[in-house]
Amino acid sequence: MTGPATDPRRLVPRTDAVLAEPRIAAAVERLGRELVKRAVTTAQQRARRGEITPDAVPAAALGALPATATGLRPVLNATGVLLHTNLGRASLSAAAREALALAAGTCDVELDLETGGRGRRGQGAIDALLAAVPGAGAAHLANNGAAALALVATALAAGREIVIARGELVEIGDGFRIPDLLTSTGARLREIGTTNRVHVADYADAIGPDTAFILKVHPSNFLISGFTRAVGISELTGFGVPVVADIGSGLLAPHPLLPDEPDAAGALAAGATLVTASGDKLLGGPQAGLLLGAPGIGADLVQKIRRHPLARAMRVDKLTLAAFEATLRGPVPPTRRALDADPAELHARARRLAEQLTGHGVEAEAVDSAATVGGGGAPGVTLPSAAVALPERYAAALRAGDPAVLGRLEHGRCLLDLRALPAESDDALATAVLHAGAGRAR
Ligand SMILES: *Cc1c(COP(=O)(O)O)cnc(C)c1O
Repeated sequence: MTGPATDPRRLVPRTDAVLAEPRIAAAVERLGRELVKRAVTTAQQRARRGEITPDAVPAAALGALPATATGLRPVLNATGVLLHTNLGRASLSAAAREALALAAGTCDVELDLETGGRGRRGQGAIDALLAAVPGAGAAHLANNGAAALALVATALAAGREIVIARGELVEIGDGFRIPDLLTSTGARLREIGTTNRVHVADYADAIGPDTAFILKVHPSNFLISGFTRAVGISELTGFGVPVVADIGSGLLAPHPLLPDEPDAAGALAAGATLVTASGDKLLGGPQAGLLLGAPGIGADLVQKIRRHPLARAMRVDKLTLAAFEATLRGPVPPTRRALDADPAELHARARRLAEQLTGHGVEAEAVDSAATVGGGGAPGVTLPSAAVALPERYAAALRAGDPAVLGRLEHGRCLLDLRALPAESDDALATAVLHAGAGRAR
């Protein structure tokens, strides 16, 4: 006997009723009504098609809800690329994450709680930066490295000339080029030398009354070798014009594994007037642009630049300020820990994981691997690493998982390189591989 009264599709619960269920109501509190309603509607449609029973609608809706109200999904970075731009570059330290959560509410970012009056915005972040680079006389933060450079060019060189070597006209990524960025501010470029060679005399010839500053850009994502000649910062300090060094990666002091990567302290010690860098590369913090000035003229220029109208448009938010300060004052951030990881320890982790996975019937093997810094830093440098090698077909299933895992395809295998991953994530990695394997078997 079938009829409207007994048709199971008639028993599909109404939206209002589902939304009123306590667990669904709690999800509305957490994720907002629209997201939850959409999941409920989808579950109701599945029940009408007979894919699930009507009483399973609330559970199906709950199961389909995202973990958070963002479409962004967490990804375990098993690429062996420490700073993967497509994965958001540096992973923040626990201290920086806590600071983010604190700053997410109202906080004294621009208030002096003692007097009740206005305070300098983000003073704590600036103080932390100056403490980390004692050779600097003043500092400012902008949205990113490109913003810091654009601010310098706008405030100091609009309508004037920037002297730059042709070998330093860098395309930084996604089609964006430093020379285009500089000219977009109204500055003119005075290009000198050739792709492979430039001499102090080239700088001397180019400098004149129109020169605003000399710019040194670190070729952070390529190598030129062979018949080459570059001019160091220390050779450029005698011309009576500021020397601006865009060091890129945000190393604040030299790192033994990266002998060719310039650092802020070194650039200032060599005589740079201003230094610009990124906050989310080797510094290991949030996206930000560092501007550091040498004591004296450099510090005066920083003050001038930070009062320029455009500085307001490139102002960092409180979340960045909080995370940046905590990155510098807190424990060693993940990027730095990955850089300093002991290869023997990485191999031990890879063996443990491979053994564990093999025990569950996964074709896994611990192998040698080579990691890189990536993200526009230390080109050509490889860091010894270890990986778990899986059959190539795992790659897609791992990307579809939650958390997603991004590995590296090499010689027909999917390598999960451990250098960019903290040891604490090994369990999550193993679970993700087992899920990916199980998903394929179904
Ligand atoms: C990465 C980089 C930039 C751009 O910095 P963002 O923080 O990505 O804006 C500029 N210059 C150099 C040399 C770089 O390496």
